[in-house]
Amino acid sequence: MNIALIAHDKKKDDIIRFAQAYKYCLEKHKLFATGTTGLRIEENTGLDLHRFRSGPLGGDQQIGGMIADNNMDLVIFFRDPLTAQPHEPDVSALMRLCDVYAIPLATNMASAEVFIHALERGDFEWREIIHERENQE
Ligand code: PGA
Repeated sequence: MNIALIAHDKKKDDIIRFAQAYKYCLEKHKLFATGTTGLRIEENTGLDLHRFRSGPLGGDQQIGGMIADNNMDLVIFFRDPLTAQPHEPDVSALMRLCDVYAIPLATNMASAEVFIHALERGDFEWREIIHERENQE
């Protein structure tokens, strides 16, 4: 599964704690992140991930591009709902694309933890089936 990890600045400590706690699960998947989030996660967990540009410089849009190409299976995006973001249009566009393509999107710790448990149970295997079908076509 391809999983995107993104956190606004005030949520970066939270996503690091999340990645540390669930490293055993996340490391089984291919991880992607916006620039600063990815760097902080790498430094604090040793997880291997692909880093896109920083969110305000286009990183959210790059992840959106992967969604549009059906290359992203899950998005974990710890948003800061109490701080205005200069790249709010990009944030909205990313969440919109998740809805357009029915990509599971967790926007806070509580829902992200539910996703981890679902991942462990194999609840997202339908995504793998979609990829297999695409490869056969
Ligand atoms: P960042 O971007 O990981 O580069 O800080 C996240 C965001 O604000 O979208």
